[in-house]
Amino acid sequence: MFGMMLFVLFVASVSATCHVGQSVNGFAPALAKDHANFFQLCDDAIKDQVRIEFQASLQYLLMGAHFAQDSVNLGGFSDFFYGHSDEERSHGIQFVEYLRMRGLQDNDFLGQQPLKPTLEKFTWKDGLEALTDALSMEKMVSASIKSKIDICGTEDPQAADWLTGTWLQPQLEEQRELAGKINTLNKFRRDHDNLADWLFDQEL
Ligand code: FE
Repeated sequence: MFGMMLFVLFVASVSATCHVGQSVNGFAPALAKDHANFFQLCDDAIKDQVRIEFQASLQYLLMGAHFAQDSVNLGGFSDFFYGHSDEERSHGIQFVEYLRMRGLQDNDFLGQQPLKPTLEKFTWKDGLEALTDALSMEKMVSASIKSKIDICGTEDPQAADWLTGTWLQPQLEEQRELAGKINTLNKFRRDHDNLADWLFDQEL
């Protein structure tokens, strides 16, 4: 009985003192934040990028779902866009993890507005239209990353370097790949749009 009371007291005292970011037994937690190197406006800008990545993920998810409908039935396009949706979600998590590495304790990564698919678009005429939307969406993401590099700039060179090296390079490569696919599909489509979409779908 006495042992049980001790246990209850122990649990109560632990739950009363163990809160993330608060002092434990009189000791303040060690913090990763380094004020010489981390610049608040830069952290805020990177936090905004998390929302942008998740909104792109939602838009690609809708593209994948569109081409999976029985009446459309272009599985290659569907898989291609579902894959991009997963990729954008993983980008969002990488931005969160980067901010955690820097000691950001804020947990409001999704902003004040509800998340919406980037283009707020739910249906597509054909594969060409969807690929063209994907390219314009990737350009919007690249422009957003560029604006964040400008904000971080010389105040936070490590973040500016990370944004440039880790993110801008693959963005530009993705734009090149999508532009190439659009142009190939356009060549396929001369005179036979539906047949071209089906043939191209098999190649994705
Ligand atoms: Fe991304």
